[in-house]
This record gives sequence, structure tokens and C-alpha cells, in this order.
Amino acid sequence: KVPYLRCNGNKELDKFIELSKPVTQNGTVADYIPALASAKQEHLSVSIRYLDGEEMYAGDFVEAFTLQSISKVLSLLYVLEFYGEEVVFKHVGKEPTGDPFNSIVKLEEGPDTKPLNPMINAGALAVTSLFPGNGVTERWERFQQFLTPFFEKDKIEVDTEIQKSEFDTAFLNRSMIYYLKQNEIINDDVEELMTLYTRQCSVLADCLDIAKIGSILAMNEGASFVSRRSVQIAKTFMVTCGMYNASGEFAIEVGVPAKSGVSGGILAVVPGRCGVGIFGPALDKMGNSIGGLHLIKNLSKSYNWSIF
Ligand code: GLU
Repeated sequence: KVPYLRCNGNKELDKFIELSKPVTQNGTVADYIPALASAKQEHLSVSIRYLDGEEMYAGDFVEAFTLQSISKVLSLLYVLEFYGEEVVFKHVGKEPTGDPFNSIVKLEEGPDTKPLNPMINAGALAVTSLFPGNGVTERWERFQQFLTPFFEKDKIEVDTEIQKSEFDTAFLNRSMIYYLKQNEIINDDVEELMTLYTRQCSVLADCLDIAKIGSILAMNEGASFVSRRSVQIAKTFMVTCGMYNASGEFAIEVGVPAKSGVSGGILAVVPGRCGVGIFGPALDKMGNSIGGLHLIKNLSKSYNWSIF
């Protein structure tokens, strides 16, 4: 039987940070969204939150960062809760892709005209286009209300500088929206959808917030504000396509549902045990936090986290 091992607290986590910090030098900070380029390559932080509420953290944990693609998990949960899976999966598929997160190529190739899954940009844009309400203000307000219990905060903060920077330069995402509109997968005003999408990507969090969200998803029975079924679907996507084109290797080496984002965040879920939040803006070639990956591999091995 695999022993249930638990991290002893901040001091023990400090050692993992120490071990992984040098690796951050081998990565590069994302700059395709201009405002992300000012992130500090050497930053690295981690937080673990167990299901009994015990929370620990180490490294540069005061640093806040934008969710970027981690938000795709939350937007998916939102529309699943609002519409149910039958409606949602009319607009987006369930299959992993070996293409980059922002690839447009499969939209034309098929198997049908739906984006392959909600963890790639085309799929996430289709998901956000389902946000209910009239106009940006109301649609955002309603999403923000959904996020509140996940963050245990009333006000969800957005980094408006990063949002603007992405909004002004998101030509590829706009192309995908036009393509999806042509194929009647989405039926949204392009600029309104870009505003909502870049806003969800620019929600600010620190690694403790992310660990908290992870711990909610780690509760196998679901929570009062999100059903077990929606969480099960989200976690399955995280396992099959949460870590870009490194999702297979991550499943072998770490073995837990996880989602990363280009700002260097990783949200990981150890089912029945804990949530994990990591931030390290230096990325590897696949777009995952290079220090964060090193760190979570070590954590998973030390505490027997793999679900496989
Ligand atoms: N806002 C980013 C984009 O759409 C998110 C990408 C990511 O984190 O993978 O390009």
C-alpha cells in the first residue's frame, strides 16, 4: 500500500524551493503578451492546502500573477454549472490535441468544426462565448459571482494593464473567434468576447489562492457551489490536456490533474488530499513553468501524489 505522506509545513517546502530555484535560469518569461515580459525570471513560489484547511507556502508567495490559461478551468466549470454538459459540448469537444495551445489548424481539419477541447484557446473562447447575460458588465459580474467562493474573496481583482496589453495584441485569438463565428460555433460580438476572455485571463491570484481553488477541486464529493460532475469533467481535461503538449509526460512524472498558464502559474489537484498552487514565470519550450515543473515533480515523488 502506498503510504499517505504529508508535507510538514513551510520549512519543509522551503527546501523544495531551494532545490528548484536554480532551474528557473534555464527558462524564459513569456513576451507575446507585451506586459508579461516584465515578470521576474527567478521568482518561484508554492502553496499546498490540505482538505482539512491546513495551508503552507514557501518562496516568493507574496507575488500575484494573472491566471491566464488557468482561468480555462474556472470558465469551463461556470458554463457546465449554468447549462449542463449537453449544451456545452455542442460548442466544444472532449479530445486532447498535440498542437500548440493557440493553434488554429484543427479548426479546419476537423473531425468537425468544434474546437477539440476547452483547454486550448479556440475551445476556451467558445466556452467564454457562452457566458450568460447582456453586455460585458453583466456577463462579467455574473462570472465574478461564480468565482467568489473559489477565491473566498468578494472582489475578484483584474490586472488591467495585462488585460489591455493582451487585448491590443490578440490577433490570433481574434482570428479564431471569426473562424468559429463563420462556422456558427459561437455567436458573440468579437470585441465583447475578447474583452471577457482577456479579463478572465487577467484575474490576479497568488499561489495561496491557487492552492485554495485546487483544494476545492480535490474534494471528491464536490462543493455546495460546484457539482461533483462538473469538477470530474474539469479534472479529466486537466489530466488529458492541462499542461499543453507536455500533458502526457506530466501524467507520467507527476500524475495529478493540473493546468498551467503562460504567466507561469500551475494549478494542481491531488484528489482527496490537497490543492497545489505554483508560480514561476520562467517557462520551458512547451510553455510550462520550468521551475514549477521541477518543483511539482519532486513534491509528487516525495508525497506519493500520482493517481496512477
Ligand atoms: N491569455 C493567453 C492567450 O490567450 C492565455 C494563454 C495561456 O496561458 O496558455 O494567449
